[in-house]
Amino acid sequence: MENQRHRLVLIAPPFQGHLTPMLQLATILHSKGFSITVAHAHFNSPDPSNHPNFSFLPFFYGLSNTHISSKNIVDTCATLNTKCVSPLRKLLLDQIEKANINHENIACVIYDGLMHSVDSVARELKLPSMVLRTTSTTNLLTYHTFLQLHTSGCLPLQDSMLLDLVPELEPLRFKDLPMFNSASSDVLQQQLIKTLAVRPLGVICNTVGFLEESSLYRLRQLYKVGLFPIGPLHMIAQNSSSSSFVEEDYSCIAWLDNQARKSVLYVSLGSIASWDEEELTEVACGLANSEQSFLWVIRPGTIDDVSEWLRSLPEDVKLAIDERGCIVKWAPQGEVLAHQAVGGFWSHCGWNSTLESVCEGVPIICQPNFGDQRVNSRLLSHVWKVGLEWSNIMERGEIERVVRRVMVNQEGKEMRQRALKMKNEIMLAVKDGSSYDALNELVKSILSVNL
Ligand code: UDP
Repeated sequence: MENQRHRLVLIAPPFQGHLTPMLQLATILHSKGFSITVAHAHFNSPDPSNHPNFSFLPFFYGLSNTHISSKNIVDTCATLNTKCVSPLRKLLLDQIEKANINHENIACVIYDGLMHSVDSVARELKLPSMVLRTTSTTNLLTYHTFLQLHTSGCLPLQDSMLLDLVPELEPLRFKDLPMFNSASSDVLQQQLIKTLAVRPLGVICNTVGFLEESSLYRLRQLYKVGLFPIGPLHMIAQNSSSSSFVEEDYSCIAWLDNQARKSVLYVSLGSIASWDEEELTEVACGLANSEQSFLWVIRPGTIDDVSEWLRSLPEDVKLAIDERGCIVKWAPQGEVLAHQAVGGFWSHCGWNSTLESVCEGVPIICQPNFGDQRVNSRLLSHVWKVGLEWSNIMERGEIERVVRRVMVNQEGKEMRQRALKMKNEIMLAVKDGSSYDALNELVKSILSVNL
């Protein structure tokens, strides 16, 4: 790198599935010689002591008591984008001034795709900007489809269309498109695609070339924008410290150490999706009846009183949980999926969880909930064939059958073999293949606008 020091300002929204990859990207780019400032909201904020090499700047004070759920995430994003503009402008101006004093330059502002309003501020201040996409590239392409549907007056979708395949996005069906059914969702979808249309310096994609080759190709054709598929970020940023909002319970690793190879089903719906009490009971009974061991994350706030609910379960189910189960509030998911005892993952198919699972060769029971999760589920089950699409019947008998299909049956073994093959291919892409090349291109591209 040249003599002048280059600083990157990274701007992340207060959602676990977005902040984590942003900090992983920060770790990667820091290892390439860049200085790092992370601008973040005041709630769900990262712990600076876990990342001593970065500067952290809280810039957004609103929404501090908001409990993020699938119902309010779109509105939360809208508020975030409206209210962040002026504090961000001030933050970036301060950073420019500070950089001058320290003989640095602000080489690039990298913002999460959900924070689309950053783009205009960066332009106004003449700072180069890039977008980090923390969902799949295929999901990004669905926003283009959404715009087409919107323009041709096809929204809202007719029920009769829902099972039809989306032209040029097969095997996605119309029902898999990330529609949020809220007043702000149209605006959000349009803004998301606008971040491509305004042609930022580039779009950093947390994906691997071969996993989404056709989507990457199509997006490049449509938007003539530089795409940098440098993922999976968690794999490249091997030494990235934890950025969990909830403390990780490592006792489950000791529990896994005592379980047989590939015998445990890991059950987690990520940081936002959840089951209600009735569904939790069906899950508990289904897991118990499946006779498989399980590690189950029940996040704080999922239901009012987990201990009381556990006490209310049938005696045989309680016994099964004692003998074959481990329940935690939050798991160190990376270590869990890498553990030799884990043979399957029942997941909501958030993009981070999806990548983390395929990178460890673990097949998935796909139970998508909202947003991009149906797209990811479809990739897992119908494109890569390492996941089992959930029927959506939350009933103990069905749960028992699905768990056995993945954990015991030949079908599950075949998915595991394919997942292991994918894991190896991903490792090659990271070591000296497409992701390695894309990362070098990304660094070159940032430096080239700062010559
Ligand atoms: N995660 C974790 N421990 C848990 C559950 C989830 O560390 O007990 C992490 C997981 O590894 C992933 C993130 O939380 O990196 C969830 O992101 P994802 O995109 O899968 O789903 P979201 O939470 O955004 O719906």
